[in-house]
Amino acid sequence: MTTPDPGLATRAVHAGFEADSTGARAVPIYQTTSYLFRDAEHAANLFALREFGNIYSRIMNPTNDALEKRLAGVFGGTGCLSTASGMSAIFYAITTVCSAGDNFVTGDKLYGGTYTLFGHTLKRFGIEARFVDMRDPAAVAAAIDDKTKLVYTESIGNPKCNIDDLPAIAAVAHEHGLPLVLDATVSPPPVFDPFAYGADLVVLSLTKMIGGHGNSVGGAIIEKGDFDWSASGRFGLITEDDPTYHGVNFWAAFGAHDKAVAPGLAFVLKARTGMLRDTGACLSPTNAFNLIQGLETLPLRGPKHCANAQVVAEFLAKHPKIEWVEYAGLSDHPDHARAKAMFPHGPGAIFGFGVRGGFEAGKKLIDKVQLCSHLANVLDARSLVIHPASTTHQQLTPEEQLQAGVRPEMIRVSVGIEDTADICADLDQALG
Ligand SMILES: *Cc1c(COP(=O)(O)O)cnc(C)c1O
Repeated sequence: MTTPDPGLATRAVHAGFEADSTGARAVPIYQTTSYLFRDAEHAANLFALREFGNIYSRIMNPTNDALEKRLAGVFGGTGCLSTASGMSAIFYAITTVCSAGDNFVTGDKLYGGTYTLFGHTLKRFGIEARFVDMRDPAAVAAAIDDKTKLVYTESIGNPKCNIDDLPAIAAVAHEHGLPLVLDATVSPPPVFDPFAYGADLVVLSLTKMIGGHGNSVGGAIIEKGDFDWSASGRFGLITEDDPTYHGVNFWAAFGAHDKAVAPGLAFVLKARTGMLRDTGACLSPTNAFNLIQGLETLPLRGPKHCANAQVVAEFLAKHPKIEWVEYAGLSDHPDHARAKAMFPHGPGAIFGFGVRGGFEAGKKLIDKVQLCSHLANVLDARSLVIHPASTTHQQLTPEEQLQAGVRPEMIRVSVGIEDTADICADLDQALG
């Protein structure tokens, strides 16, 4: 890149890829499992991490590498690991530092899949998720003990559109020497800048706003790069010699202790050469290519999604058939002030609303929409609707549903980038 400090839109289009030997301008799909070594010494150096390079596509691939570097560039992090899905990114972020007997503190209003992973599946492996109300940073502090490894939350809750005091939560985590892991799936830059509000690691589903076109599932972990993994003595997996990697010390070799010699990549490298190597939820290069196409227009689409959501939320709030709308861009939402302060374009494009007539009226609306697609995804270019209680949050118990913010009559909408007049007209005819 020609300027020393390129802006976000420039990074989204250029970061992470210089033309290869073919001169191809778009990032090619390197559809290969493995890579020729120059000679025996080159191979030995790659395996020992003495030199970075390609070995095998479970662990690294040039198309994925371009996506990872571009994501790191867009978020302003030092490094990134791409994964097969958002769920595998979350699983790896937790298990790279948590072992059986450890715990972590998390918000209780989470994406449904994350809630199930934390509350049920990780429990089977002896990792305890301590659910607290993130509106109360003191509750986070109270839940931390000497086996706690991280604090986890989401940038904007789905579907309650709750926005918590992230800098206060980060301060509690940092006082205890813990990283804040933030799921920023629903509000990537320029909608929100997670590293400016205290996150140390960002986890993402690339499936949503970043891919943006509803064609590929993928995930990522992005490392901010300045967290001191050695200060608390809790992170031996990163700061001690790694017996599964011929004694490599990730902190000494790649940590943030000395910016001059170390790039601040200790976490993502440990995740790549540990959890990804051993359990293999790697992103396919073809999906990486598709996701790069989305990432290039993210700076245009993100603000458009938010602006459209504001129009649709205001339309619904005034509609006689609507009982309530829970969008933080509306002044009656409890987190409206925080939304205005932290989200320059508006707090994303996902929110819930209740149709008068309860559960049955909500289901009827779903059956009557035409432009809006009824499906289980959020933040592709199209407007999407779903009834969470009978679908995305169905596996949760009724108490868990309420705790996750899902009321029986709630419709969740993800506002797309169509013309707002058409989105509103569709909802209006369905309500009629
Ligand atoms: C979709 C989603 C995930 C899971 O991502 P997948 O790519 O579907 O595995 C995690 N967190 C949030 C906030 C999501 O919306």
